[in-house]
Amino acid sequence: MTTRLWLSVSLAALMAVSAPAQDARSVLQAAAKAMGVENMRSIQYTGTGWQGMVGQNFAPDQDWPRVDLTSYTRTIDFDTMSSREEYVRAQGDNPPRGGGAGFPFLTPQKVVTFVSGNFAWTLNAQGQAVPQPTAAEMRQIEILTTPYGFLKGAMAPGANPTMVARREYGERVTIVSFVALGKYRINGTINVKSMVQRVQTWVPSPVVGDLYLENVYTNYRAVNGVQVPRFHQHQDFDDGGHQPNVSGGDHAFGLETISEVRLNVPNATAAVPDVVRTAKPEPVRVQTQKLGEGLYLLAGGSHNSVAVEFSDHVVVIEAPLNEERSLAAIGEVNRLMPNKPIRFVVNTHHHWDHLGGIRTYVHEGATVVTHEGNRPYYQEVLRARPWLLEPDRYSLYPPEEWSEGYIFETVREKYVLTDGVRTVELYNVQGLPHAGGMLIAYIPREKVVVQADLYNPAAAAPNANNRALQRNLERLKLDVATLVGIHGNPAPLSQFLQLVNKTN
Ligand SMILES: [Zn+2]
Ligand SMILES: [Zn+2]
Repeated sequence: MTTRLWLSVSLAALMAVSAPAQDARSVLQAAAKAMGVENMRSIQYTGTGWQGMVGQNFAPDQDWPRVDLTSYTRTIDFDTMSSREEYVRAQGDNPPRGGGAGFPFLTPQKVVTFVSGNFAWTLNAQGQAVPQPTAAEMRQIEILTTPYGFLKGAMAPGANPTMVARREYGERVTIVSFVALGKYRINGTINVKSMVQRVQTWVPSPVVGDLYLENVYTNYRAVNGVQVPRFHQHQDFDDGGHQPNVSGGDHAFGLETISEVRLNVPNATAAVPDVVRTAKPEPVRVQTQKLGEGLYLLAGGSHNSVAVEFSDHVVVIEAPLNEERSLAAIGEVNRLMPNKPIRFVVNTHHHWDHLGGIRTYVHEGATVVTHEGNRPYYQEVLRARPWLLEPDRYSLYPPEEWSEGYIFETVREKYVLTDGVRTVELYNVQGLPHAGGMLIAYIPREKVVVQADLYNPAAAAPNANNRALQRNLERLKLDVATLVGIHGNPAPLSQFLQLVNKTN
């Protein structure tokens, strides 16, 4: 009797455990009905809002710098997992601080992005398709993190959604989860009105690893039978609740007003151009240019590094992009200067495209030289926590040094690396709009200045960053012959001065 009772209790417990899967499905069905998604095959929405330039803040404790989206239209076909996104971004009244090399925007920029299943592409200024094979997965995740795409994805055959409930802001909510594309956990929070009020996921980043991505959907209203929210997206955390604030980047995208919504639009799926269908990811190449005896420009991609040979070690200036780029550059350094370890890696500034390869150099045994203002943030970046989505060497084989704290040399105004013969001088660039704590490297023997984002030899008109560089070269009284950029080709100082001295 006792045994049988025990058995029935365990059965009841078992059923309670397996019940949520069923509940998740009914929660999703109720939401699909309430939000007008049941008969939706495609949707097109048009509005205006803003975009935050992720990884491009003026200082690590500040938010991503914003630009206005003066027009924005997205067309999604859920059956084919395709999306066309078209927008115009402009500087507007946003403070012109931080941002990539083209920031602030002097003229509005039009951007068009596409995904269709496993193919992704964009259009260049001439309207020609440019393949973006590595973007396809992220663009599918963008579809699945819209309120409609979340419901479609969670209800798709084989999605096996799970569910938990919690109280949020005093209201009972349900969080339904599924795993997309084999590895992305996607959580949708559904409120008592059966509206999807938040969709969370994590995406891989070479800087922070599993990057938190959150869409907050509020202010729902019915348009043409569909519930349409205000779109508000975060990427990464603002830890402003802590003092000091180490990481302030947070706001990535918003649509404040939606002026038009269309359902089941004809030709919602863009045809994949042939050039996109046959494209392969470009292999990482390092093209070396000798700038002097034991001085090399490691080019061949969108971002360069500079390698400097010392008597018993090598200094590399800049570790851009990601681990793949760093491994290729380190391989080239080892080929050019065998048996000399890379003892220092100099980082010009904290923007993510200039920071993404730094973990690889630390793993290789190098000490990071950067501005002292970056140290708290870099201590977070150079942490040996698990990176589950795209593990790098640093996360898989964690070096002990990070916890010991001896992987940094920090610079305030000036720092000199020397072995008595070869010298590299590092200087802080004062009064710069692009980034706080920006370093330039001066190499006296070849009269070279290495700079990032302060001068593009292809530029037609001078900008505030060019002028800041010129003021600093004068302030420091450096005897310069050549400016070597982390972007583009080296240029003689005379060419730079010609640009800066243009009056119009
Ligand atoms: Zn930058
Ligand atoms: Zn740059």
